[in-house]
Amino acid sequence: DQQKGSSLAASGVTVAFGGFKALTDVTMSITPGAVHGLIGPNGAGKTTMVNVLTGFQAPTTGAILLGDTDIGTHKAHKLRRNGVARTFQAGRLFAGLDVLDNLAVTGVGLGHSRHASEVEAQRVLDWMGVSHLADMPAMGLPYTDERRVSIARALMYSPSFLLLDEPAAGMSEAEAEDLSQVIARVAAELGCGVLLIEHNVGLVLSVSHHVYVLDAGQIIEEGDRDVILSSRKVRDAYLGA
Ligand code: ADP
Repeated sequence: DQQKGSSLAASGVTVAFGGFKALTDVTMSITPGAVHGLIGPNGAGKTTMVNVLTGFQAPTTGAILLGDTDIGTHKAHKLRRNGVARTFQAGRLFAGLDVLDNLAVTGVGLGHSRHASEVEAQRVLDWMGVSHLADMPAMGLPYTDERRVSIARALMYSPSFLLLDEPAAGMSEAEAEDLSQVIARVAAELGCGVLLIEHNVGLVLSVSHHVYVLDAGQIIEEGDRDVILSSRKVRDAYLGA
């Protein structure tokens, strides 16, 4: 069962692929109702971090904690049912279904009736402000709509934690600004703990309560916007110094 009010955390997590460590001794915590940013240069280990927090990758050493429970060996489908949902960099919508059905099949998969799933799907689309997309085929959706529908579908799990892997990629500044408002509402109105990975560092800093900076598999800095902006270590990492 979901442990309401508890955190999703990595404790001393290392992920090795052969002799290469994508993550080394990473400790971080995602708390309910807050947006957490994860930034860092290409290859820093950001996607690996999301994978290990969502059951797509087991840690080599260290623990993934949902409340007091080590979920490091739990698979993604089990974690989704326990309130840990994610989106992917490239959308994984069912191309042959319309938007409403893309959400409704998630509800059916969770054991709800077809009708209840459609009602919930409509409710989630309304909440996201994209109900006009309900009857559109998923295939051929404009990219930014596809991103929003992917988040809506993840919300069908009523997650306690939502991990977003580059949700603003390919968006204009105005679209990214709209998206940041949705992300803020997911935390504030739904009480979700959000982890946001983005290349758009400005977006991350503006919406996140707490930001972690990864470089070469290690957390080199963490804190609020001011801490990150004034960090020499962060500047050096981004300038490749
Ligand atoms: P980021 O998301 O920050 O760009 P990634 O987590 O995708 O970084 O990758 C971190 C490092 O781990 C990269 O050097 C990448 O090549 C390596 N890596 C990621 N996944 C695997 C894998 N399955 N096997 C081997 N190396 C991997």
